[in-house]
Amino acid sequence: MISVDKELCSGCGVCPDVCSYGAISLVGDTAQVDLDKCTLCGTCAENCPADAITIEREETGSAAELDQWRGVWVFAEFRNGEYAPVVFELLGKGRELADALGEELCAVAIGSGSRDQAEVLGNAGADRVLVADSPELEGFSEDVWARILSRLASEQKPEVILAGATSMGRAFLPQVATMLETGLTADCTQLEIRAEDRALLQTRPAFGGNLLATIVCPNHRPQMATVRPNVFRAPSMDFEDSGNSGRQIEIDEIELSPEDLKSGVRVVERKVEDLQGPDLANSQVIVTAGRGIGSEDNLKALEQLANCLEGAVGATRAITDAGWISHHHQIGQTGATVAPKLYLGFGVSGAIQHLVGMQGSEIIVAVNKDPDAPIFDVATYGIVGDVHEILQLLLQRICKGAGQTGG
Ligand SMILES: Cc1cc2nc3c(=O)[nH]c(=O)nc-3n(C[C@H](O)[C@H](O)[C@H](O)COP(=O)(O)OP(=O)(O)OC[C@H]3O[C@@H](n4cnc5c(N)ncnc54)[C@H](O)[C@@H]3O)c2cc1C
Repeated sequence: MISVDKELCSGCGVCPDVCSYGAISLVGDTAQVDLDKCTLCGTCAENCPADAITIEREETGSAAELDQWRGVWVFAEFRNGEYAPVVFELLGKGRELADALGEELCAVAIGSGSRDQAEVLGNAGADRVLVADSPELEGFSEDVWARILSRLASEQKPEVILAGATSMGRAFLPQVATMLETGLTADCTQLEIRAEDRALLQTRPAFGGNLLATIVCPNHRPQMATVRPNVFRAPSMDFEDSGNSGRQIEIDEIELSPEDLKSGVRVVERKVEDLQGPDLANSQVIVTAGRGIGSEDNLKALEQLANCLEGAVGATRAITDAGWISHHHQIGQTGATVAPKLYLGFGVSGAIQHLVGMQGSEIIVAVNKDPDAPIFDVATYGIVGDVHEILQLLLQRICKGAGQTGG
C-alpha cells in the first residue's frame, strides 16, 4: 500500500522525477500515484523531502516461520519419456546447496511414466524423489503442473526450489511462485548459499548482460530460481564416481486427486517442430558465425566445417537478426546457452550478451581480424586473421581437401 499525505505534500515535483515507472504525477499541488504502474519500489518515499509518502508492506514471515522451510528441491522435468538433461545439471548444483545447508536434496518428478526412471535421479545426487505419476499426466499442462508442485511445496516446505529455464520451466514456475507468494529469479548463472542467514544468492545477468545482479529473497520461502540448460555441469552418472555410493534413496509416490489433475487448458493439437541440423544445446562441437563472415552465402563454408567435425552451426544475434540463419541457432543471453567441448567462433566480436551463452565451452577457438576483439579475452586459442582465409585452410585440412565454398 502506498499513500500520499496531502497535508505534508508540497507539490515539489521530486517524486515524479525519481520514479522510474512513470507511476507518479502532480495533480494540482499534490502527488498522485498510478497504482497500476507503481511497483512499491520505495524510491519516491526515500526521496520525498517532506516525508509525505508512506509505503506499508505486507507483513513478511518471521524468522521462526522461515525456519520451518527446509531442504532443496529440484524440479525433475520429464518429457517425451525421459528426464531433461538440465535436471542432472541442477541436481549437481542442488547437491552442493543442500550440503551447504546441511539438508536433504529432493527431486520432484511430475509426468506419466516418470516413476519408472526415478532411480536415475538418485544416482545424480538426490536423497529423495517425489513422484507424481499418472496416465493423465501424459501431456504437459501448466496449470496442472503448477497446482501439483505448489501443493507439494506448501505441504512439505522446501527452503529452495530450482528448475530448468526450459519452455516447460518458464511456462509454469512463475505460477508456482505466485501461488506460494514468494519470489522467483529467472535465468540464474550462479547459485550459492550465504552461510550466516541461509540465503540463496541468485546471480543473473541484468541490464542487457552488462551487469551481474545477485538477488536474495529474504522474507519469503521457498527461494525459487530457474537456470538455463548448460550453465552447470552435470555430475558423473556413475554411481561409484559420483560419490553417491551407499546412500539410500527414498522414492515417495504422490497420491493425486481428480482436483489435482483438473485443467482449464484444452490442447487442440500438438506439433513437434522439425529443427534442421544437429541440436545446438547438446553438440560437442559448435562452429559459430558472427557478422564478420560478411554475407549469408559464406555460411555454407561454416556448415561444411561443422559437418566434417560432426558439430552444429551456432550464430550471434547479429546474424539471426539479419535473417541469415534461424533464431534456433542463436547463442547467448537471448538464445541458447551452450557448453560444447569445442567452440569455434568466426568473425564473432565477443559481446557480453554472446559470451554469457558460450563461456562454459571447454575449448574456445576464435578467428577475428581485430586483435583487440573481446572474444580473445575468453579464447583458449586466438587466430588474428581473415575468416575466409582461415576457413579455407581449415576446410582443406579437416575436410580432406574441401573448401572454395563461399569466401
Ligand atoms: C538485450 C540484448 C540481448 C542480446 N542477446 C544476444 C544474444 O543472445 N546473442 C548474441 O550473440 N548477441 C546478443 N546481443 C547482441 C550483442 O550485443 C552483439 O551485438 C552481437 O553479439 C554482435 O554480434 P557479432 O559478434 O556477430 O557482430 P559484431 O559485434 O559486429 O562483430 C563482428 C566481428 O567480426 C570481425 N570481423 C569483421 N570482418 C572480419 C573478417 N573478414 N575476418 C575476421 N574477422 C572479421 C570484426 O572485427 C568484429 O569483431 C544482445 C544485445 C542486447 C542489447
